[in-house]
Amino acid sequence: MTRLVLLGRQGAGKGTQAGRLAARYGIPHVSTGDLLREAVRLGSDFGRKAKEYMDRGELLPDDVMVGIVEDRLAMPDAALGYILDGFPRTALQAEALDELTGDRPIDVVVDIDVPEEVVVERISSRRVCVDCGALYSTAAPPSSDWTCDVCGGRVVQRDDDTEDAVRRRLALYEELTRPLLEFYASQGKLVTVDGLAEADEVNARIVAAVDGRMHR
Ligand code: AMP
Repeated sequence: MTRLVLLGRQGAGKGTQAGRLAARYGIPHVSTGDLLREAVRLGSDFGRKAKEYMDRGELLPDDVMVGIVEDRLAMPDAALGYILDGFPRTALQAEALDELTGDRPIDVVVDIDVPEEVVVERISSRRVCVDCGALYSTAAPPSSDWTCDVCGGRVVQRDDDTEDAVRRRLALYEELTRPLLEFYASQGKLVTVDGLAEADEVNARIVAAVDGRMHR
């Protein structure tokens, strides 16, 4: 039973690490960004509205995001645990998460710490599969011509990885999301992991921190 939240700037490696942790612990990777990108891909009215926020680097309204996460965490595959990536991003979302998890609270919150100038560089080289969300970079592309190794989908740059949207997301992170570190530290749930290393090494650091917590 592991309920994890990953915090950290965009480009800190949350998506990559969440995928690995999900495989290791056998629990779902719940990425609000991926859920929204799926809605965009399906072309619903909601998806079109969401894309407007996302392309500007703005946050969707808290009540909308809380509803999405509540529905997702109620699915049977999340009963034994999950890895939340991209949520909560505001104090209101964090309070709502406390409420909706009730007597099955979050166990550990991992902050993946990577300096701003490094994430800007990482985001500019980031590429993603439009179909399954698998992550690549210009330094580690798929093996054949921007075709996803996992599902054969097209691998592209995210529409919201433009310079303006990235700058806006990073500013919102400082203003609205960083205060959550204090919130979770005061609950005794926060571990900070230095994210300035290869993905394997960062993964080993996170696993050591999480396992240390869970077996105390
Ligand atoms: P991400 O993939 O986590 O970088 O999320 C991509 C975009 O989706 C964000 O820039 C926001 O526009 C939106 N988004 C994702 N998660 C949230 C959230 N918890 N609250 C508000 N907006 C979100």
